[in-house]
Amino acid sequence: MAYKAEYIWIDGAEPTQKLRSKTKVVADGDEPGTWGFDGSSTNQATGENSDCVLNPVKIVPDPIRGGANKLVLCEVLLTTMKPHPTNKRASLATTQKKFAKYDMWFGIEQEYTFFDGIKPLGWPDNGFPAPQFGYYCGVGADEIFGREIVEAHSDACIAAGLMIAGTNAEVMPAQWEFQIGPANALECSDQMWLARWLLYRIAEDFGVSATLNPKPIEGDWNGAGAHTNFSTKQMRESYPPIEQACRALAEKWELHVKNYGYGIERRLTGRHETAPWNKFSWGVSNRAASVRIPWQVAVDKKGYAEDRRPNANMDPYTVTRLVMDTVCSYAEKGGK
Ligand code: ADP
Ligand code: MN
Ligand code: MN
Ligand code: MN
Repeated sequence: MAYKAEYIWIDGAEPTQKLRSKTKVVADGDEPGTWGFDGSSTNQATGENSDCVLNPVKIVPDPIRGGANKLVLCEVLLTTMKPHPTNKRASLATTQKKFAKYDMWFGIEQEYTFFDGIKPLGWPDNGFPAPQFGYYCGVGADEIFGREIVEAHSDACIAAGLMIAGTNAEVMPAQWEFQIGPANALECSDQMWLARWLLYRIAEDFGVSATLNPKPIEGDWNGAGAHTNFSTKQMRESYPPIEQACRALAEKWELHVKNYGYGIERRLTGRHETAPWNKFSWGVSNRAASVRIPWQVAVDKKGYAEDRRPNANMDPYTVTRLVMDTVCSYAEKGGK
């Protein structure tokens, strides 16, 4: 029997690219191959020359439709079969190949917020919920909004074979987190895009929208980030390479912040567990630093570091490429 392949790709929306998908019915026994779409409707082409190519890069079982159905994550190519300018995956692939000997791993903590129409899920029609305190990792109907969606999403990620590492309720009510990794940069980023698509798709069935807005509610409410944990083989073996990576990131702080997601200065204010966007800092256990070395890593004298700056709406292909390029180039120069 024929099956359905859901082709998923990243569009050309500005300032933040978004996910699109459409369904192809594939004959029994056939693999989902390249396909096309109308790039003039996704800010990826003009009407006169509208065709773009979908090139499958990762195929997983479809946990929503079940059976033989599949999710097909694609990169976008021009009809010349060269990467489309909006395709940020292609340059990550090049960088990952260049620095293969460092065997980098990434684990990304994706924060997001559920919305019910124009307000966060479970918030009162007028005014605000009680101030932030009890919600982070809370329990009970007065503190938790949308757990049934979170459960359905993590089950779907597991069924699709994604490396989801965990979930937690966040500091702002209706805000949540899931983590993907650790895995190499391409794998972690591909899986993050698939997990984001599953989040939107599953919340849709509950009549709820999920947003990666980095500061969904102004005022005394936490923003949403995408802490990016990373390690080289050397960092996983000893401590000096971890400090060296922090110094490398200090040198290139501005390039990173400018590419860590639209609206980053609204979130990285120096309040709400963030460091100011324009003042790089790093330290052990410090959740008010730009980059944190987890306490356990300092004790073990090996492991990984956490770049706390990326926004929830960051592009994982871009963020992991920058971290890899900065950390590995610095190590190539002998840590100077
Ligand atoms: P936090 O304490 O900041 O909330 P989390 O437990 O949410 O931390 O996320 C930490 C993430 O770090 C994990 O999801 C995992 O994927 C990632 N991680 C663990 N070890 C490594 C490593 N050696 N290299 C890169 N990432 C790692
Ligand atoms: Mn976390
Ligand atoms: Mn978090
Ligand atoms: Mn974190």
